[in-house]
Amino acid sequence: MSLLQLGFIGTGVMGTGIIHNLLKAGYPVVVFNRTKAHAQAVLDAGATWAATPREVAAQSAVTLSMVGFPQDVEQVYFGDDGILAGAQKGSTVVDMTTSTPSLAERIAKAAAAQGVTALDAPVSGGDVGAKNGTLTIMIGGDAAAVAQLRPIFEAVGHAINHFGGPGRGQHAKMANQIMIAGTMTGLTEMLVYAKAAGLDLAQVLATVSGGSGANWSMSNYGPRILAGDYTPGFFIKHFVKDLGIALDSAAAMGLDLPATATARRLYRAMVDAGQGDLGTQALIQSYPSWGK
Ligand code: NAP
Repeated sequence: MSLLQLGFIGTGVMGTGIIHNLLKAGYPVVVFNRTKAHAQAVLDAGATWAATPREVAAQSAVTLSMVGFPQDVEQVYFGDDGILAGAQKGSTVVDMTTSTPSLAERIAKAAAAQGVTALDAPVSGGDVGAKNGTLTIMIGGDAAAVAQLRPIFEAVGHAINHFGGPGRGQHAKMANQIMIAGTMTGLTEMLVYAKAAGLDLAQVLATVSGGSGANWSMSNYGPRILAGDYTPGFFIKHFVKDLGIALDSAAAMGLDLPATATARRLYRAMVDAGQGDLGTQALIQSYPSWGK
């Protein structure tokens, strides 16, 4: 049985890993990326190129997207050469970008009006999860479409969680990012403190990892910090975007989240200092006692 033709827009850190796993699972994948040179790795691995998102969608039974910011999603879906201009009736479109719940709802509505099903399916698990096919996927949209696409999600993730209608996947991702705000600031201040106290930092990471403070941010980014590796991973500029969406969504529900707001303030200061393209583990560099 031949597998569905897939389209994919966005061949960055996450898209590249995901596309490699889709190709490995045997899916034909046609891709588009803003900068063609950044698609070379997946083209070398067997993906084919189309000139616009519209052309990708016109050729695909399922078109997935993993771009940067909500404004990129807006352009990729609603532009003259966008996905919805090309998507065929009966096809499905899946936005995996971390974006706003309201934009996911708007895409689903516009897609439905032309007989296309839209899912929001943001992920967690980082660059490592994308590469290894072990992402956690949080989905909003039609349950039947989620069931139909399950083999595709299973090719790139190990946990596929459906939360309800359009936008619910993005809300679940915001809950996740509120948690990460705590684990990243906790990791940072734990290491700053332990260094000032003269503790062996590798021993601290190993010890805390075995106790009630264990968490993914520490396991994955703690060793990178000790190695002086501040490359992304997960871009600071994207985390500031996520925390902004989370705080806006919270405010719309009448919620005040002061700890999340503090994390955003700390990370936004790094963007303001021109460090938005570093990985989120670089927060520790803004603590004077740590040094650069
Ligand atoms: P990235 O490396 O910057 O990738 C984004 C890709 O989208 C780039 O290749 C970019 O093209 C492309 N793009 C942006 N706008 C476009 C447009 N209008 N048309 C076509 N292509 C466009 O970022 P990433 O780390 O993969 O993250 C992607 C998304 O996943 C973000 O929303 C992020 O918050 C989320 N996320 C990231 C992680 C992580 O750990 N990295 C984890 C979970 C979720 P160029 O080559 O021209 O830049």
